[in-house]
Amino acid sequence: MKDIHFICTYCHKIYSSDHVHPRCDECHEPLEVETVERGTISGGNSLNQTILERYADFSPFVHIDKQLSLGEGFTPLVASPKLSSGLGIKKIFFKNESQNPTWSFKDRGTVFGIQHAIRCGYERIGTVSSGNMAASVAAYGSKAGLRTVILVSATIPMEKLNPISMYGPMVITVDGDYGDIYFRSLDIGKQNGIYFINSDVPFRVEGSKTIAYEICEQMNFETPDYVVVPTSSGGNIRGILKGFEEFKLSGFIDRVPRMICAQASGCSPIYNAYAAKKETISRVDNPETIAHAIENPFPPSGNEVLRKLRIQNGIFVAVSDDEILHAQKKLAEDGIFGQPASAVGLAAVKQLMNRNMVKEDETVVCIITGGGLKYTAVYEKHNLPIFNCSLDNVNSFIAHHA
Ligand SMILES: [Zn+2]
Repeated sequence: MKDIHFICTYCHKIYSSDHVHPRCDECHEPLEVETVERGTISGGNSLNQTILERYADFSPFVHIDKQLSLGEGFTPLVASPKLSSGLGIKKIFFKNESQNPTWSFKDRGTVFGIQHAIRCGYERIGTVSSGNMAASVAAYGSKAGLRTVILVSATIPMEKLNPISMYGPMVITVDGDYGDIYFRSLDIGKQNGIYFINSDVPFRVEGSKTIAYEICEQMNFETPDYVVVPTSSGGNIRGILKGFEEFKLSGFIDRVPRMICAQASGCSPIYNAYAAKKETISRVDNPETIAHAIENPFPPSGNEVLRKLRIQNGIFVAVSDDEILHAQKKLAEDGIFGQPASAVGLAAVKQLMNRNMVKEDETVVCIITGGGLKYTAVYEKHNLPIFNCSLDNVNSFIAHHA
């Protein structure tokens, strides 16, 4: 480990980084690794590098164990002339995080977190998740040969449990929503020697920084006007913003894009607090949205996202399930099939353009957080046409209908 510290995001109390320490003992807000103010991008062959190696100056590790990597990161940034002209915006890009080893952005934070867990001597890791993070931690835990404990809400469908179980962790379904289980896991981890690589632990947030670094490299260091992040716990948007800020301090970019915190209106605690001009979030009762991956009624980094985005003039927005499903189909028709949560970014851009908050001469990057095959139950919402005819009649069928 480099000689770095954790700093409380609210009261700025300083903590040692040589053991797991997700939250401040004084104010209970999340901790983060201190900001890197100067660094460079490693040279060499990016086809043979991990994200930890390429951005080593911006990572907390002196020694990197490549054996813990599954080849995460280095995901495509896809331009969409079709969607940009449809929206009437200058340029729109999609950072396709579904092309990670377990099909979501979570793998970036997991590979950082597991390096730290092993440095600290842990033999057990775990997480609290409704799907994406559980699959990611299970995969990396198995790869590292660590006992892995996954806590999930008892309400999640088998369709989501089986892809987690496949990697061989101990999966435990428990009562309570994601917010309840998260806070209980902090004690469970202490009592059982389990490093819970949860949504907003400092090293997971460090992993999310690499999304920003890659966007900068892929856009030749001309930053977009906005980056839209479908937001649940708040760890990912915090990491992406921190990444842009570190690249600005290091002289790679001139400005930090405005961040857009996009939530589903069926569960939008951060947006709700912003709209009500509150300093802190309140729990959402009875959350319900098609975007299950971001259905977190009490996000542990919600207050910090409010603070940070207010400082940098960011935008908070909530979109309906109809807007999400429409955006999911539009994305798929341009070749990108993301899970409903992934479509929240495009839905947000459309709404913000209609409200004249995002302008036609601006450039936007949307984060596609996870792959569409994660949630196949959504097919029935789309009324997908499939035709049938006899083989002898295919020629005439196509001639009449195609
Ligand atoms: Zn504090």
